[in-house]
Amino acid sequence: MRQRTYLTPTLREIPADAEIKSHQLMLRAGFIRQTASGIYSYLPLGNRVLRKVEEIIRSEMDLAGGQEVLLPAIQPAELWEESGRLGDYGPELMRLKDRHGRDFVLGATHEEVITTLVRDDVQTYKKLPINLYQIQTKYRDERRPRFGVLRSREFIMKDAYSFDTSKEGLDKSYQAMYQAYQNIFTRCQLDFRAVEADSGAIGGTDTHEFMVLSDIGEDTIAYSDSSDFAANVEIAPVFAKHDKSNETPLELEKIDTPNIKTINELTAFLNIKADASIKSLLFMVNEEPALVLVRGDHEVNEIKVKNAFNKATVELATPEQTAAILGCETGYIGPIGIPDGVIVIADKAIESLVNGVCGANEKDKHLKNVNPERDLKVSRYEDLRLIQEGDPSPDGKGTIQFAMGIEVGHVFKLGTKYSEALGAKYLDENGKSQTMIMGCYGIGVTRTIAAIVEQNHDENGIVWPISVAPFDLHLVTINVKDEGQKQLGEELYQSLTNERYDVLYDDRPERAGVKFKDSDLIGLPVRVAIGKKAAEGIVEVKIRKTGEMFEVHISQLVDKLRNILSELN
Ligand code: ATP
Ligand code: MG
Repeated sequence: MRQRTYLTPTLREIPADAEIKSHQLMLRAGFIRQTASGIYSYLPLGNRVLRKVEEIIRSEMDLAGGQEVLLPAIQPAELWEESGRLGDYGPELMRLKDRHGRDFVLGATHEEVITTLVRDDVQTYKKLPINLYQIQTKYRDERRPRFGVLRSREFIMKDAYSFDTSKEGLDKSYQAMYQAYQNIFTRCQLDFRAVEADSGAIGGTDTHEFMVLSDIGEDTIAYSDSSDFAANVEIAPVFAKHDKSNETPLELEKIDTPNIKTINELTAFLNIKADASIKSLLFMVNEEPALVLVRGDHEVNEIKVKNAFNKATVELATPEQTAAILGCETGYIGPIGIPDGVIVIADKAIESLVNGVCGANEKDKHLKNVNPERDLKVSRYEDLRLIQEGDPSPDGKGTIQFAMGIEVGHVFKLGTKYSEALGAKYLDENGKSQTMIMGCYGIGVTRTIAAIVEQNHDENGIVWPISVAPFDLHLVTINVKDEGQKQLGEELYQSLTNERYDVLYDDRPERAGVKFKDSDLIGLPVRVAIGKKAAEGIVEVKIRKTGEMFEVHISQLVDKLRNILSELN
């Protein structure tokens, strides 16, 4: 491709509203442009990367037995009514009407469409299992679109759906997708982890998120320093043991704590450690009040609270609700002397507390020397807190560390949720009607590209891994006004293209400095520069990743490039 007329508008300045490196670099190197908030256009270079990533995904999905389809982006709202999701999905779902006033939605995901499709066209166990996938544009009106294509409102997703006749079948389909995802992200040369995630089911490990390790990630991963355990902090169980100290329990005492509302203020004011205090949070569980206790140095895990109440609707009480139920401000609530109707559950660490401090349900007052068994009625002690760094790993091996991750993929056992709601049934060997068992598997294609850039850049620009680079080689004629250079450039462009390399050929009449800066910014794996030694048949090769540079005679160029590129693979 000749760069002179290729649409690669590079920018020297960092665009003002681009906070993270991948967003800045994809804009600066001319891969994307914003069309509206969270809505992007892909310029030729960006589009080439998209195609490369899609091809990797396609080949691995096909290898795993997937069949590619293409479903509509516009879906009738009735389908979502049928599955019961139209209300639940909320404002993230983009809705529209056609000219007849019929309601439609822009596909945020495709369970409804695919399940009804399979329902109507697959009737017997003989045609199962089946795995259908597509690579297609999705629409989600995100509350906070940000970070460029990492969280956008229109984005490309690969979504796959498996249909099985048994739980064991689903396990196999799931495993095949899990392996395909391992292959895909490995081929994208990403540093990633598959982590156990929240499936909404109690204690189930029916879902894994594929996380690219990155400080700008929005998810926290808890992983063991000495095994392959990795889970989203949201779900990691805590097995830490808390031994009871042999301190003597003292008499319960009410103390003045003027304007002291947070655990930090309280521990500073009383000169105690946070682990000697009790944090009390009032939740509304299906509209009934429940007080949840964790130690002051711990954080409540709302997913665990939800699970503790059999997945009821659980919400933190508002200040108004708190005042009405406990008669005081949120900062002073505690478990002692509360109305009978308020159920109290506590994290396991609370059980071994001796002489703790908690709110007195009275403004500017706390209670000290609180001893759980003696002073308060806890209906259950359970694991209710977030795991922390330094906790023992739940698999019994090593200690927990944290890392931040970008979720690029998600594999999920759906079971019969959609097949039941939408009536996807088949006849089994005995002619009996059964419900199909489903799994769903997503990859954020455009998000994956941003994650690749996030992990592969330096101060000069992007450093594309060879497998997804828009071109293999950047051929740069330093001075196109020099006839010798120009002619060698044309010859090499022809011969390297004939060798089946993807070549971006910088034939622009620009200064050397500009060309080299753009070349580093765009970040193709190898640069071949034709300069002053053109007459001797010598060119300069630079490897983008290592910065290594050396001269090569054109007679050796093809062999040399073959070696370099295979090493980068
Ligand atoms: P998130 O928690 O980041 O919002 P999600 O759980 O809503 O993700 P899924 O519904 O599982 O995501 O979608 C599958 C994949 O699609 C995700 O793993 C992610 O890579 C990608 N994805 C989801 N939302 C967006 C978005 N707004 N922009 C870009 N990619 C997205
Ligand atoms: Mg989301």
